[in-house]
Amino acid sequence: MKAKFIVVTGGVLSGLGKGVVTSSIGNLLKAQGYKVTAIKLDPYINVDAGTMRPTEHGEVWVTEDGGETDQDLGNYERFLDTNVMKNHSITTGQVYNTVIQKERNLEYNGQCVEVIPHIPLEIKRRILEVTKQTQADFVLLEVGGTVGDYQSILYLEAMRALKRELKDLLYVHVVYLPVPGNIGEMKTKPAQHSIRFLNEAGIQPDYIIARSTKPIDDTRREKFSFLCNVDTSSVFAAPDVDNIYRIPLVFEQQGLDKHILNKFGLRYKKNKNKLWKSLIKKINMLKQEVNIGIIGKYFDVGDFTLEDSYISVIEAVKHAAWANNVKAKIQWINAKDFEKDPKKIETLQQYHGLIVPGGFGSSGVEGKIKAVQYAREHKIPYLGLCYGLQMAVIEFARNVCGLKDAHTTEFNPHTKNPVVIILEGQKKLLEQKQYGASMRLGTYEALLKKESMVSKLYKSSHAKERHRHRYEVNPEYHSTLEQHGLMLSGMSPDGKLVEYIELPHHPFFVATQAHPEFTSRPLRPNPLFFGFLEAAKKKLKE
Ligand code: GLN
Repeated sequence: MKAKFIVVTGGVLSGLGKGVVTSSIGNLLKAQGYKVTAIKLDPYINVDAGTMRPTEHGEVWVTEDGGETDQDLGNYERFLDTNVMKNHSITTGQVYNTVIQKERNLEYNGQCVEVIPHIPLEIKRRILEVTKQTQADFVLLEVGGTVGDYQSILYLEAMRALKRELKDLLYVHVVYLPVPGNIGEMKTKPAQHSIRFLNEAGIQPDYIIARSTKPIDDTRREKFSFLCNVDTSSVFAAPDVDNIYRIPLVFEQQGLDKHILNKFGLRYKKNKNKLWKSLIKKINMLKQEVNIGIIGKYFDVGDFTLEDSYISVIEAVKHAAWANNVKAKIQWINAKDFEKDPKKIETLQQYHGLIVPGGFGSSGVEGKIKAVQYAREHKIPYLGLCYGLQMAVIEFARNVCGLKDAHTTEFNPHTKNPVVIILEGQKKLLEQKQYGASMRLGTYEALLKKESMVSKLYKSSHAKERHRHRYEVNPEYHSTLEQHGLMLSGMSPDGKLVEYIELPHHPFFVATQAHPEFTSRPLRPNPLFFGFLEAAKKKLKE
């Protein structure tokens, strides 16, 4: 089948769930038996998301091939159960980089190179390249930012022009309909303005997705129809839900998938997506709840908590909890609290499992090490992710091996016992200030020890997970750690780098240098998270 395209734009607010809408449409089309992929078009000048602060932009998603991208690619992978590569993330920075480089290489044959048409043409070229590579039947194109933003204009121009050339293309516009407390009525005005703006860019939406606290009613559908030239049957409700994985079903119930297929001249098949539906049904019935504490630091933005920085960790915990027939209650623990008041560490006893996720920078590091010590000594299931492995190694070196000043050279370059270090290649990159896309990135294989818990969990003698870090366990300390009882349960194929550690006489004390959260899917939880939640559930039963 010739590829068909669905462009998703958003209006009124940022963060209204455009990524989930895009992914949900993709989920439904995939359930109809089509090959579906998605591309994110981001208006920022950063070449990738790797240099952005998590509190600024949410989590940095890592693709299998080592791209550091917007977190929406994570939603695509989770809802479509398909891996998407780094060229599925297009940013203004990449687009300009290529155009300028081509100009320098005389590839424009002496033309005057201009923003219009050369920037939209490069955007189009990248989209068509991914389309060809993936051989997808449906390509979803999510335009980042909010319609009306100055920086989105070139993407809208590219999306407009694409329709003329490709024909098989639909526009979906996601808007927010506020229900102001003092008025108590759902308002459509901001959405009307954003549709006007799309019209000015030469785009008439085929569908309107109405995000709000409640489902949109007929009166407001008619308003959209009259004022914005869409049929009332093309306005779909997307009310707030308790579980984002329900959104595909919310759309299916309203017939969005059928409508889209018919518009493309394709037949709709009933009763698809059975596994997904039974998962949602099962989640609704779960009663037991385990307490999972995440000890991090990228939470606070002003007076608000931003969980986006750890979205994949949160989702991976949920997937694994459901597979264990429990719900997970996730709580945020600020490591600095334990530094200010050492007695507070006792509050950790209420948890059935503790996670130290990925992180950069030294703030809260001593508190995290204390928390790991507590988990180790009090036999609370512990899962360390990347930084969380490094913290576990430092803690073990200090308190079990007796190397009191053990540390990572990331925070203490002069420690006498550098148990976590930066290797030569990485060191050079930093000296040359080459920060962008230069960490150990993407999928790496690890060989797992036969008698280890990790090999049991992966049901294999090797595992592949995605990485994003610069520091590694210092090879000079491998034998000291092992002699004192820490199992280096997974190593890089050359045997030099520690990929997994575990403690044999602990209910669950496992950490990895990788980020296993990136391979977790609703119907296929990551094995490490599964084991962690299984141990947490056991702890709950005690
Ligand atoms: N800061 C650590 C490193 O660079 C850990 C990174 C991470 O957790 N992703 O190695």
